[in-house]
Amino acid sequence: MSQNENNKQLRVAIIGSGPAGFYACEHLFKRNEHNFSIDMFDKLPTPHGLVRSGVAPDHQKIKSVTRVYDKIASNENFRFFGLVEYGKHITIDDLKRHYHIIIFATGAQTDRKMNIPGENLEGSHTATEFVAWYNGHPDYKDYRFDLSQEKVAIVGVGNVAVDVARILCRTEQELMQTDIADYALEALKKSKVKEVYLLGRRGPAQAAFTNPEVRELGNLDDAHAITRIEEVELDEFTRELLENEEDRSLVKKIEILNSYSEDIEFEKSKKLHIRFLVSPVEIIGNEEGSVKAIKLVKNELYRTDDGSLRPRATDETEELEVGLVFRSIGYHGVPLPEVPFHEKWGVIHNEKGRVIDPETQLHVHGIYSTGWIKRGPTGVIGTNKLDSGETVECIVEDIESGSILSPEAPDPRHLADLINERQPQHFSYKDWLRLNELEILKGEEQGRPRVKYTSIDDMLNAVKKDS
Ligand code: NAP
Repeated sequence: MSQNENNKQLRVAIIGSGPAGFYACEHLFKRNEHNFSIDMFDKLPTPHGLVRSGVAPDHQKIKSVTRVYDKIASNENFRFFGLVEYGKHITIDDLKRHYHIIIFATGAQTDRKMNIPGENLEGSHTATEFVAWYNGHPDYKDYRFDLSQEKVAIVGVGNVAVDVARILCRTEQELMQTDIADYALEALKKSKVKEVYLLGRRGPAQAAFTNPEVRELGNLDDAHAITRIEEVELDEFTRELLENEEDRSLVKKIEILNSYSEDIEFEKSKKLHIRFLVSPVEIIGNEEGSVKAIKLVKNELYRTDDGSLRPRATDETEELEVGLVFRSIGYHGVPLPEVPFHEKWGVIHNEKGRVIDPETQLHVHGIYSTGWIKRGPTGVIGTNKLDSGETVECIVEDIESGSILSPEAPDPRHLADLINERQPQHFSYKDWLRLNELEILKGEEQGRPRVKYTSIDDMLNAVKKDS
């Protein structure tokens, strides 16, 4: 018998308001056989997670996906509680008191470490910090990066590394057309960066960046993308693979990278070197403890038992003189209070989204995960739609079998009273929409898509003054 035979309202809490959280909402609202009432929480006043604070400011088209989220948020059974932090303003016990279903969609907020000497020197940063800084994330607005350096190394060749390289290579005129944070625009206008090195530990065929992203590097106004002919040459295993099966996308990627190794007249002022088969083994500091170089070892590829190609160090090394290093080797999830967490993988213990107790291997009733905190930091925004679909399928199955929570206080007014008491300054979706309008208006004055508010106090004051 269905738990919801009288179409009783099922209360759902979603922690995290990025794409995965919104797609979970969308899937739930589409299940007409159930009557869901959803509250979404975020520790920031602003919703949309990495669409606001991760997607590069020069990729405005990607950001237009927020229109879909606005539509989902316009459902009368949806409420947003911004500036409400799980573990601080609201606990797992509170959630269990108020909701039938709890979904964690908190993403992956930190980064992986290289574990090499010198990683903590002044001038060695994570890409996640730099990305959050130039995107105006309130927690990162006071970070400083020494852009008086002429040479910068970025470790990793994923799409995040490419974003960082592009932002460092863009001209003032190019950046002026974006919604990059004001302070970052000012700092980048004064930047002395002339050479950027993207460092891949495997070959070009194994590079994680996607074709449109690497093609874009060839179209920068004032920077040349450069590869070395000997480093873009295909390894024997990949050549063999391509002889046996057609992989058009890989062939295209290699073509693009090869085109960057052609002799060109260097008329642009910046150089963006895309290097392969090199691994950092040490970041070298000067007497003041700041980065002065990065030591690289040359790699060769070998095939593992499972068929994948891994890098193996040779005895050839080189020292690259750089004053700034960004490691961009993948994001990592952060544990949440009272939620089973897999430290090594950086994800919540789960099976298809159902949160699992690692000791009993049983589902923790009523608790689910979706997005990067469920599967790890992979895929593009749209990948989260499928991922959330899988989680919602499990939720619906569990509703049918009666294995969800039975909250003592499911009335939405009770939860609102609790939040008003614990965090009276919380932001609603209406507050966000007003802030959004104000940012766009400020942008219009400067011919930019928007000018972001980057401090929480300014966000609160702007909306308060306005209401
Ligand atoms: P990623 O795609 O997983 O790339 C990580 C990179 O770091 C890989 O090149 C990896 O090399 C390298 N790496 C890992 N450990 C290393 C080590 N110890 N030393 C040297 N290199 C190391 O991660 P990401 O760039 O952070 O991106 C995360 C996700 O967001 C991806 O799915 C990405 O496509 C997506 N994203 C998409 C866009 C877009 O669509 N425009 C923009 C940004 C991000 P190996 O392959 O050898 O491990």
